[in-house]
Amino acid sequence: MAKLLEGNPIAERIKEEIRDGVKSLKSKPVLASIMVGRNSAAETYLKAQKKTAESLGIEYQLHNLPGDITEAALIDFVQKLNSDKSVKGIIIQMPLPQQINCKKTSCCILPVKDVEGIHPDNIGRLFFAKSSMIPCTAQAVMELLKESGVDLTGKEVVVVGHSEIVGKPLAILLLEKLATVTVCHIGTAKAGKLEEHVRNAEILIVAVGKAGLIKGDWIKEGAIVIDVGINRVGEQLVGDVEFLPAEKHAAFITPVPGGVGPLTVIMLMRNLLEAAKLQQ
Ligand code: NAP
Repeated sequence: MAKLLEGNPIAERIKEEIRDGVKSLKSKPVLASIMVGRNSAAETYLKAQKKTAESLGIEYQLHNLPGDITEAALIDFVQKLNSDKSVKGIIIQMPLPQQINCKKTSCCILPVKDVEGIHPDNIGRLFFAKSSMIPCTAQAVMELLKESGVDLTGKEVVVVGHSEIVGKPLAILLLEKLATVTVCHIGTAKAGKLEEHVRNAEILIVAVGKAGLIKGDWIKEGAIVIDVGINRVGEQLVGDVEFLPAEKHAAFITPVPGGVGPLTVIMLMRNLLEAAKLQQ
């Protein structure tokens, strides 16, 4: 039976480091979060961000802008936050309404305030292993792997999902650790090759958003399974991997909820601290 890789105990340890780091700053840092219109999914995440930020001595400012705001007005708002010296980090909650080009708007955040690590400058630096702003969920996965004690050198790592915030940056971080990385995506599934790759994984990381996509009996004996997916099934939250059958084969597995999620928000705060230090 697999050991659970839980995010909360690691999050608590990292929180202590962040709290001390924040105390040593010259002024209280502000994390500005922009939400356009109402977004119930984002609102749950926002509450967690606010609570965590405040528990670490970070001021959390929520800017709820009207749903019919123009792209130009939103960009203007971002520029104001860019030039506000007290604001050390800026997040724009996704999704944005149709009239707004998400990429264009995100690119207007100053790279040094881009605490989600999504600006092309930060993604570029990640490529050269020189970024201080690494996408939060990818960092969270790397922390969980560190906790498992695994040496990634030469390991067969399969990442399912190639999004810009999870799968792609993760592939780069894993390569940096000399893992042998295979990235699967919709094309892999369409070619009917997902099972074959998953069965080969010594380390499996799944970030798709489809409940039960990965069958429990595909998991290699002794594998490490990190399930990033969050899916609502009835009243329950579940991951992308069939948990009960998978835990019979894996050596380590993350629960959903309670695995990657609690660490993602902490990584955001760690980026904020880093951003504040760079601006100081
Ligand atoms: P996303 O942008 O929708 O990306 C999903 C990825 O899965 C895409 O690369 C997609 O490929 C691929 N995909 C879709 N169907 C597939 C299939 N049948 N087989 C293989 N790959 C398939 O999602 P995301 O933002 O990366 O998030 C993924 C999941 O993680 C979601 O459930 C999200 O809620 C969760 N999440 C959790 C946390 C956390 O902190 N725990 C943080 C972020 C995200 P194509 O683009 O080619 O279709």
